[in-house]
Amino acid sequence: MNRPYTIATLGSHSALQILKGAHDEGFRTLAVATRDTERLYRSFAFVDEVIAVDSYSEFPKLIGELERRKVIIVPHGSFVAYLSLEEHKQMTIPYFGNKAVLDWEASRELQREWLTRADITMPRQFKTGAEIDRPVIVKLYGAGGGKGYMFIRDAHDFEQRSKELKKAYTIQEYIIGVPLYIHYFYSPLEDRLEIMSMDRRYETNVDSLGRIPAAAQEGMDVSPSYVVVGNQPVSLRESMLAEALRMGENVVRVSKEIAGPKGLFGAFCIETIITPDIKFYCMEISARIVAGTNLFIDGSPYSYLNYSEPMSTGRRIAREIKNALLTNNLRLVLDDGSVL
Ligand code: ATP
Repeated sequence: MNRPYTIATLGSHSALQILKGAHDEGFRTLAVATRDTERLYRSFAFVDEVIAVDSYSEFPKLIGELERRKVIIVPHGSFVAYLSLEEHKQMTIPYFGNKAVLDWEASRELQREWLTRADITMPRQFKTGAEIDRPVIVKLYGAGGGKGYMFIRDAHDFEQRSKELKKAYTIQEYIIGVPLYIHYFYSPLEDRLEIMSMDRRYETNVDSLGRIPAAAQEGMDVSPSYVVVGNQPVSLRESMLAEALRMGENVVRVSKEIAGPKGLFGAFCIETIITPDIKFYCMEISARIVAGTNLFIDGSPYSYLNYSEPMSTGRRIAREIKNALLTNNLRLVLDDGSVL
C-alpha cells in the first residue's frame, strides 16, 4: 500500500537503511544528496527521488519546498553535523523525534546530569590537569569518530602533552574494558522499549596494540588513538541483557522529566564500556539512529526475537510512523513544533 507521505533524509550516515526501511513499510522515499553522492542514491531502486545540492550546508534552502510537501524527516548523525542546534529547531518540516532532547544531548554537562539521574555510571570527569590521579582520556569537543583523542597516563604526562590540545576538551577517567554500543528503540505508541542490536567499534590503532607484546612496545614511540574504521556486531552475554534494558528504560523515564512529556523516543544508543566486574560505564548517549545499526539492515538476533522478519532500526522507525498514521497518532511521533 502506498502511504501519502514521503520519508526523507540526508544522503549519508544511515540513509540507505532508513530509506530501505521506509520503502518496505510503504512510504515514498527521498534522499537529499550532494553532487558526489547522488549517483549512489539513484542506483538503489528503493530511493524514489534524489535532490542534489552542492553541499549539505545548503539543506536549509530546501526547507521551504519540503515543508509544502507531505515529507517527514528522519534525522541521523549527519543532521547534527551539518545543521546547527538553532537550524534544527527552526526547521518546521515534520521531524521524527523530540527536538527538546537535543539540548540535553549537545551539552556534556546536561548529558551527565541526565544519565546520572537515570542511575547510570559515567567515567569520572576531571576539571583540570592537576586533578588527574589515574589514566584519563582527553576528548576534543565535536571531534567525530574519536579523532584526536589522547590517552594520558597521569598529571605529569598531561602537563607535557597539553600543548598539543588546540581545541576545547574534556578529561575523563580511562575505563579499561570492552566497549559496547547498545542500540535501542522506544515506541511512544506502545510505551515499550526494544533492544534492537549492538555493536563495537573497530578503532585504529587502539584495537591493534594488543597484538604487540607490552615488552616489545617499551621504547616504541606509540600512543593509542581512537579513530573509528568500522563496526563489528556483538551479542551480549544473556546475563548482562537485563542491565542493558534497565539502563535504556531509565534513560527514557528521566527524559520525560527533563525534555517534556514526550521525552526521548525512537532510536537511541547508549555507548558503554564494560569492566571485568561487569559494570557498565556510559561514555555518551546518542539520541537518534547510530551508524552501528548499518550492520543490521537485515535485522539482528535481538530484532528477530521481536519480529521474526528482517527489522532494521531504519525500518522500525518507518513502522512506528506507519502505526501512528493508521491510528491517527502522528502527533505522538513527530516533533511538537510540526504541523501536518
Ligand atoms: P562524538 O560522538 O562526540 O563525536 P565519538 O563518538 O567519536 O565522539 P566517543 O564514543 O566518546 O567518541 O569515544 C571514542 C572512543 O574512545 C570509544 O569508542 C572508546 O574506544 C574510547 N573512549 C571514549 N571514552 C573512553 C573512556 N572513558 N575510557 C576508555 N575509552 C574511552
